[in-house]
Amino acid sequence: MIKAKGYAAQDKTTPLAPWSFERREVGPHDVQFDILYCGVCHSDLHQVRDEWGFSIYPMVPGHELVGRVTKVGDHVKKYKAGDLVGVGCLVDSCRTCRNCSEGLEQFCEKGSAPTYNGYEMDKKTMTFGGYSNVTVVNEDFVLKVSEKLNLAAVAPLLCAGITTYSPLRHWKVGKGHKLGVLGLGGLGHMAVKFGVAFGAEVTVMSTSPSKKDDALKLGAHKFLVTKDAEQMKSAAGYFDFIIDTVSAEHNYSDYISLLNVNGVHICVGAPPTPSQIHSFSLIMGRKSLAGSLIGGLPETQEMLDFCAEHNIVSEIELIDIRDINTAYERMLKSDVRYRFVIDIATLK
Ligand code: NAP
Ligand code: ZN
Ligand code: ZN
Repeated sequence: MIKAKGYAAQDKTTPLAPWSFERREVGPHDVQFDILYCGVCHSDLHQVRDEWGFSIYPMVPGHELVGRVTKVGDHVKKYKAGDLVGVGCLVDSCRTCRNCSEGLEQFCEKGSAPTYNGYEMDKKTMTFGGYSNVTVVNEDFVLKVSEKLNLAAVAPLLCAGITTYSPLRHWKVGKGHKLGVLGLGGLGHMAVKFGVAFGAEVTVMSTSPSKKDDALKLGAHKFLVTKDAEQMKSAAGYFDFIIDTVSAEHNYSDYISLLNVNGVHICVGAPPTPSQIHSFSLIMGRKSLAGSLIGGLPETQEMLDFCAEHNIVSEIELIDIRDINTAYERMLKSDVRYRFVIDIATLK
């Protein structure tokens, strides 16, 4: 076994703290890499604190990993020692079901293996994530990362990036569309960058008026303060699409009323509590309420290649791993500009 160290939650109420554990030896189809940076997703916080109700402990969070390959198994074809690589939210799936065959491994009918807070496909071996120094992953779930971009700022593409890229591509959001991005955090700021890159007119819809300048610098065309009743009223029926990245309970109907006829409200944010919605808010205007979960492996590689070609990375604040618990508190106050990334070199 390979000795690994990281930060783990031992239960839902104690802060993350140093923890030593083991990874499997490199198998014939495996890639071993030293993790250099790991992004901090709001899903890490939801799961560390068991807000979704399916957490298992000990938990080493982190599903936005980038690093350099140190060793590969005998049958590995795509990678060699020294390559820059990334791993997102998935480390395995059945590979044969209908959804896996279409490159939608996130919807594997057998249940895909998440990078942490879950099990390998044997449904027995726990998986541990990227707040750690080393990992071993099957080559099919390892992604190629460009040498051209700032590596620390690439890490968040592995979840925040693909989670916003995928639905915008699925619904073909682009030129001639008015896109509202609800919530300017880790996912939201990536949605702005992709929406702009795809040619849409982008409006950031935020509870934080102080984020206006940043939103415009990110390329957004407009900024709407959602707590301002007048601004909300004047945007009624305006948008073709809203991508909703909000992490806490909110009233969906308030935003659906801002959609034009045939408009689509796409949920990617995953608040822990359910929300009520009146069917009239959809009936009046033939509107859709939709959702999307990360993205499959082929599309994640497509997104990384798109980012390398168009020079797109995340806006980050690099943190020492010892500050992770403070970072969570700041995330809860919407005080992230716009993704925390852990410098794994600080894990001494
Ligand atoms: P984040 O960086 O904390 O951003 C969330 C943003 O939501 C905040 O910055 C804030 O933006 C807004 N917000 C927070 N509380 C709010 C409230 N009470 N009312 C209205 N707006 C509020 O989080 P993230 O990492 O982007 O993740 C966002 C959500 O997506 C989380 O629930 C996460 O679990 C989920 N997620 C889903 C997927 C998927 O595959 N579907 C993948 C990754 C993450 P403003 O300050 O601009 O209002
Ligand atoms: Zn995530
Ligand atoms: Zn499958």
